Amino acid sequence: MSHHDDHEHDLDPPGIALAAAPAPDFVDRHGRCLRNSDDDQAWADLLAPTRRRFLRSAGLVAGGLGAAVFAGSAHAATPDGSAALGDPAFRAVVPPRDVGRSPWGDHTANEPATRPASVRPRDGATGLPDAPRPYTDIYSYHAHVYFDEDTYLKAERLRLWVTERFPVELGNWNFEPRGPHVTPSFYFGFTNDLLPVVVPWLQLNSLGLTILLHPNSDDPRADHLYYTLWVNRSQPVNAYGMKRPGEPGAPEIEKILPNIVPTRTLET
Ligand code: ZN
Repeated sequence: MSHHDDHEHDLDPPGIALAAAPAPDFVDRHGRCLRNSDDDQAWADLLAPTRRRFLRSAGLVAGGLGAAVFAGSAHAATPDGSAALGDPAFRAVVPPRDVGRSPWGDHTANEPATRPASVRPRDGATGLPDAPRPYTDIYSYHAHVYFDEDTYLKAERLRLWVTERFPVELGNWNFEPRGPHVTPSFYFGFTNDLLPVVVPWLQLNSLGLTILLHPNSDDPRADHLYYTLWVNRSQPVNAYGMKRPGEPGAPEIEKILPNIVPTRTLET
């Protein structure tokens, strides 16, 4: 490319720029001097705002710095002799360009933005609910404990602790995504009277796992998407396909039928 070549001749390669603004040497705890390779230093200069200013005052313009860095390293090789970034021998492998016309047509950029319809439950014409929901609309709660191949031992431990202490309805292990839950999980359901105990207990005993606490109202779709509490980080819940109340195929309100008899007294 011709403009690339221009920069190659106009601008100093990084080694010369560094001579004007020498990089500090670092000494490790064994007294060994650690000095960046030229390539490392070129990247550091490119990314560090303070070094960028330094180099600009040494005669390099910001717009050409990237080109100068790459042009400078074009003749460099790594110590083991392999091709360095910018080396003419280096070629990124990319698939060939697709040929044809987009099925979206050529004018999507001109489509105007319009206000989407609200997907939240019970919104009125303004996009806000007309009144708050009574908390007594909640019949019970579910706790969904998520895990993966790296955290299943934590899930096993937490599940044991729960079943030793709380009269809950415990579900199966789900070792694959199931329903709206996009990772492996297990759940336990519990009655409202346990909420003031289960929430702080899970906060202290989550073992870092992501836990979804959702109420069971007459709207399971909203229960999973809009009425949630999370312990630690949240993760996607794919409940958008669940039916709204009154729609054909809408699920019934969840029942909690405890199947666990605690064997230990809860620690206080
Ligand atoms: Zn649930």
